[in-house]
Amino acid sequence: MLIFKRIHDIQNYLNASKKEGQHIGFVPTMGALHKGHISLLKECKKGCDIVVCSIFVNPTQFNDKTDFEKYPNTLPADIIKLSGSGCDVLFLPSVTEMYPEGYANDNPMRFGFIAQTLEGEHRPGHFDGMAQVVEKLLDIVKPGKLYMGQKDYQQQLIVQQLIKKIKLNTELIVCPTLREKDGLAMSSRNVRLSKESRKKAAEISRTLRIVKARLKMHKDGIESLEKFGFQRLADITGLEPEYFAIRNAFTLETAKSESEKLIALTAVRTGGIRLIDNMRLN
Ligand code: AMP
Repeated sequence: MLIFKRIHDIQNYLNASKKEGQHIGFVPTMGALHKGHISLLKECKKGCDIVVCSIFVNPTQFNDKTDFEKYPNTLPADIIKLSGSGCDVLFLPSVTEMYPEGYANDNPMRFGFIAQTLEGEHRPGHFDGMAQVVEKLLDIVKPGKLYMGQKDYQQQLIVQQLIKKIKLNTELIVCPTLREKDGLAMSSRNVRLSKESRKKAAEISRTLRIVKARLKMHKDGIESLEKFGFQRLADITGLEPEYFAIRNAFTLETAKSESEKLIALTAVRTGGIRLIDNMRLN
């Protein structure tokens, strides 16, 4: 596995590979790699000749300073995991390499409602920072295929729009969420959970599953299921749901009927850690 820290160097390498007809696949991450990330790399390996992974904890997408400062860093272990899972190129830029002129994002791209609702509402500035760095990374790597997780559902919807806006010839492939045995969605932040919070966090995906099952039984309307999901989580001591929403899976608009493709999305705080999860309902 080759490791590049400089934009110029990785571009030289990838340009030469593209000239030889190699297909580039890209998996951007913030490190602290777990099996969810590795599943993306494996998908990428299946569909591409050269698997590129980036590890960059992007300061501009953190709206919470403590979350940024405490974001886990496990680089030596990450490098071992990557080279053992078929990664060919690791891009490991510094903050100054990515932002030589500072963080200013004078003209953030506008994505409309899908970026303003849910996470957009609860994490102001997060998607502006995410789009800022993904645009830079895509411009550097220019992959034929980009692999992202359903775990960050709103993020992948926005990246899909970003690819259209900047007219890149990149196909976005969205991979399913990998979960722990008890259903908790794998996340780099899970290592920061206390034993007690970790146990309770399993209720997040359990609630999503219960809501899915209840919808299937046609017993409750969408609005009452949203209330049910939120209240079920709020009733568990130690869990503080921020939202529990059932939305149209393509537009994230409020769902009007069960004939639409629906998705339930939630964000829950526990012991100072914020976790997100989602589940397609039909
Ligand atoms: P992150 O390092 O958290 O920015 O995530 C990097 C990529 O991995 C994103 O596309 C995420 O959606 C994806 N990802 C994170 N957690 C999981 C998971 N549990 N299963 C599958 N993909 C994931």
